[in-house]
Amino acid sequence: MSDEKITLAEIEAALHGGEFCFHFQPKISFQTGKITGGEALLRWQKPGGELVPPGLFLPQAEESGFITDITAVMLQELIENIAQIRPHKPDIQIAFNVSALDLHSPYLVKMLRSYIGNRVIDPGNIQIEITETAILDHNEPIRKTLLALVALGVEIVMDDFGTGYSSLDMLSQLPFSALKIDQGVVGRMDKDSRSTHIVRSSLQMARALSIKTVAEGIENEGIYSFLLASGCSEAQGFWMAKPTPIEDFITILEDSPTWPSSELGAFYNAWVNHLSYRRKVLDTVYTMTMSPPEEWSHLPKLDLRHSPAHCRLGQWNPSLDNSSVSKETYKKLSKIHRAMHTAGDTLVKTVRAQNGAESIIKATDDFMRLSEKVDKEVSRIVSASFAESLRAREKAAQKEGEEEALNQAQI
Ligand code: C2E
Ligand code: MG
Ligand code: MG
Repeated sequence: MSDEKITLAEIEAALHGGEFCFHFQPKISFQTGKITGGEALLRWQKPGGELVPPGLFLPQAEESGFITDITAVMLQELIENIAQIRPHKPDIQIAFNVSALDLHSPYLVKMLRSYIGNRVIDPGNIQIEITETAILDHNEPIRKTLLALVALGVEIVMDDFGTGYSSLDMLSQLPFSALKIDQGVVGRMDKDSRSTHIVRSSLQMARALSIKTVAEGIENEGIYSFLLASGCSEAQGFWMAKPTPIEDFITILEDSPTWPSSELGAFYNAWVNHLSYRRKVLDTVYTMTMSPPEEWSHLPKLDLRHSPAHCRLGQWNPSLDNSSVSKETYKKLSKIHRAMHTAGDTLVKTVRAQNGAESIIKATDDFMRLSEKVDKEVSRIVSASFAESLRAREKAAQKEGEEEALNQAQI
C-alpha cells in the first residue's frame, strides 16, 4: 500500500465498481463456548488482490458524508450475505457498523423494515453497532432512529466502549442491548492495570443496566479466561478467529469449533444482582428508620422489588447440560434465596408498621441470618465448580500427554 492519501473519487469508484465486500469475524458465547454470530467488517478488495482496511478510507468517507452511500449499498450486500449464511445457522446474529450520519435520516430504518417485512432476514439476524463517541454529540435525532430500530426488533450495540465519556445516565436513556468493550482497552489489559480497571467498570455498568457485554480484541488465552470469569457475555478477537471472507466464515460455522466456557461468569452476575437487592433493603430500612414518617415520600426511589423472580439469582437455572454443579445444590440455594427475599419484604413492612425498635431489630436479624446462608451456599457452588474445572483441565492435559507419548513411540 502506498502512502498516498486515498481520494474520495477513488472511494466512490470502488464502491460503485463492486470492490467492497465484508469479512466476518466470529463472536463466541462465554457461556457455551460456541459461535453465536459475527461482525461484518468492510474490506476494499482491489482488482489486483490488495486488501485495504477500513481505517484507510472510512475517515475520508465520514468527513465528506459519502459514508451514507457506502452504508446503503453495503447494507444490501450484507443482507444477501446473511441470506447465504442463514442455511448454515438460522439464528446467526451479524453485527453491522454504522456511523452517526447514518442515523440522522430514516433510510436505514426503511431499508431494514422492508427486508424484515419481506422475510429476507429475521430482526434477530442483524445487530447495529454504533460507536460511543458518535452518539455523544447528537443525542436526540439518533435516539429517534435507535428507538425505531428497536421497535423493528433489531438490537443496538454500543461499540468501542471505554474510549469516550458515556455516563450511566446517558446509557440508560438509549436503548442499547449490549456494550462492546473497545479492542484497544481489552488488548492492553495484560500491560496496564488502568485498562483492566476500565474493562471491569464497563462490565459493572452493563450489569447495572442489565445489558449484555461483548469484549473485542482478545488476543490471548489469559485475557479470554479473565473475561470468562468476570461475567462478560461474548468474545471476539484474533486469539479465537480473525475476520475472514464469507466462504471461510461458513466453513468455520460448519466445523462448529468450541472454546473454553463456563456458567460461573453468568452466576457471578446473578450474585452481584442479588447483592444489590440486599443493599437496597438495608438502605431502605436505614433511611426510613432515620427519618420521620412524614418524610418517607421524599426518600430516593430505589425500585425495590422483593419477588425472588426479579432477582437474577432467583432466575438462575443451571439447565445447561455441561453445568458442573448438581441440580440439588441449586435447589437448596433457591430455597434459601426465596426465604431471604420473603424476610426482606417482612423487614420493610415491619419498619412501615412502626411497631417499635425491637420488632425491627428482630426482622433485621432474620434477614441478615438468611443473607449469610445465601452467601455460604454461593461460595460452595463457586468452589465446587472451580474444583471441577481444575480437575477436568488436569485430566485433559494428562490425556494429551499420553497421546503425545504414544505418537512419539510410534514414530
Ligand atoms: P470496530 O467496529 O471496533 O471493529 C473491530 C476492529 O477490531 C476490526 O478492525 C477488527 O479486525 C479488529 N479486531 C478484532 N479482533 C482483534 C484483535 O484481537 N486484535 C486486534 N488488534 N484487532 C482486532 P477493522 O476491520 O480494521 O475495522 C476498523 C473499524 O472500521 C471498525 O472498528 C469500525 O469502526 C469500522 N468499520 C468496519 N466496517 C465498517 C462498516 O461496514 N461501516 C462502518 N461505518 N464502519 C466500519
Ligand atoms: Mg464494530
Ligand atoms: Mg469496536
